[in-house]
Amino acid sequence: MTAHPNSTEARDVRYHLHSYTNARKHEEVGPLVIEKGDGIYVEDASGKRYIEAMAGLWSVAVGFSEQRLVDAATNQMKKLPFYHTFTHKGHSPVVDLAEKLVSIAPVEMSKAYFTNSGSEANDTAMKMIWYRSNALGQPQRKKIISRKRGYHGVTIASASLTGLPNNQISFDLPIANVLHTGTPHHYRDALAGESEEAFATRLADELEQLILAEGPETVAAFIGEPVMGAGGVVVPPATYWEKIQAVLAKYDILLVADEVICGFGRTGNMFGCQTFGIRPDILVMSKQLSSSYMPISALLINEKVYGPLADESNRIGTFGHGFTAGGHPVSAAVALENLKLIEERDLVGNARTVGAHMQKRLHELADHELVGEVRGVGLIAGVELVADKAAKAPWKNVGALGTLVNGYIQENGVISRNMGDTLGFCPPLIITEKQVDQMVDAVKKALDTALPQVKG
Ligand code: PMP
Repeated sequence: MTAHPNSTEARDVRYHLHSYTNARKHEEVGPLVIEKGDGIYVEDASGKRYIEAMAGLWSVAVGFSEQRLVDAATNQMKKLPFYHTFTHKGHSPVVDLAEKLVSIAPVEMSKAYFTNSGSEANDTAMKMIWYRSNALGQPQRKKIISRKRGYHGVTIASASLTGLPNNQISFDLPIANVLHTGTPHHYRDALAGESEEAFATRLADELEQLILAEGPETVAAFIGEPVMGAGGVVVPPATYWEKIQAVLAKYDILLVADEVICGFGRTGNMFGCQTFGIRPDILVMSKQLSSSYMPISALLINEKVYGPLADESNRIGTFGHGFTAGGHPVSAAVALENLKLIEERDLVGNARTVGAHMQKRLHELADHELVGEVRGVGLIAGVELVADKAAKAPWKNVGALGTLVNGYIQENGVISRNMGDTLGFCPPLIITEKQVDQMVDAVKKALDTALPQVKG
């Protein structure tokens, strides 16, 4: 890196440790510094504009320049910049948001609880589940089943639920009481000739065998994303959720839907639960809740969870859990305005119609020599790259082709993200069909640039 010693780039390398980054490599290559946002675009320090095809981190639903969210934050800052929800205190933004979330929930929910990140929310879900088991006089019921390739965050508990090696290797994770079952990844994990339905049946059987082997009385909950995001945009096979839920119901195991990516329109319905017929006891959300303009996350819990939790807090004297900034009034005010925008502009409908266009255009890439599979729903998609289509084999090592093509896509003015060899696309919900076309053209061009290198 040859940047001026006082440049943002040089100072970044000197002072700043990045998330999800190879720190030694970063010392060589430095950062891409983003200075501004405008609609679905962001602009770097050199003035180059990009389509932000990942909506930041799957999250900026309304785009990067929404004045109404700025106004909502400013007004709330002026009126009451901070208050909390401990010891019977409250404020109107958090109450309004709780009411709103309960009213739009995909199933009947009892209460909303507020946290600051998806990880904190999942950590909180795990603590609530344990607390509930103790309240019910079932202290042995503490195990939580997650899925390989699932993503639920990076705190000690949520990184344990996450089923990806990089979140656990050298962190001494997972902790006890977390189990992982199979990934609903038909392209990679189905047997030769196995239908989606047969694959789903096999995964539900695998889950049941795991529960029986552990002892059903020890299993408290199952957690899953309606569509897996960071694990490579894995859309479940037909009948998967129906069959998984039948197993959970048989053993009275709670279901936690992690809607941190899918929530608020991404899959073409307000919640991924509606797209896939999921009936959760706990629903976890963040990201598009505030379009990530302010940090906020939330859990919706049903009466089955709230009732014992309330009793236990009464027995002990308090629900001994809470974050200083949980239910922050500025975050809550921004989230409320963001939900208003999503409804007023029918961004859920946009995710359906423009989403259908995006899926169609990306599916046209399926014939490309480097594309193994295109999958997605609404405005979320994954394009899995392979060097050899028949063998579904990677180029060099897993992730090399994804990194190569993702780099070319960025050169072409689009920011996507490769999860191994799967390119993720999850643009702001305000994207138009024309912008989708520009995005897909940049991807096609990148694939064509990479082809001679891979096959040559
Ligand atoms: N759950 C899911 C499904 C996620 O995609 C993420 C973040 N990518 C998280 C939880 C964790 O959220 P955070 O990064 O805000 O802790």
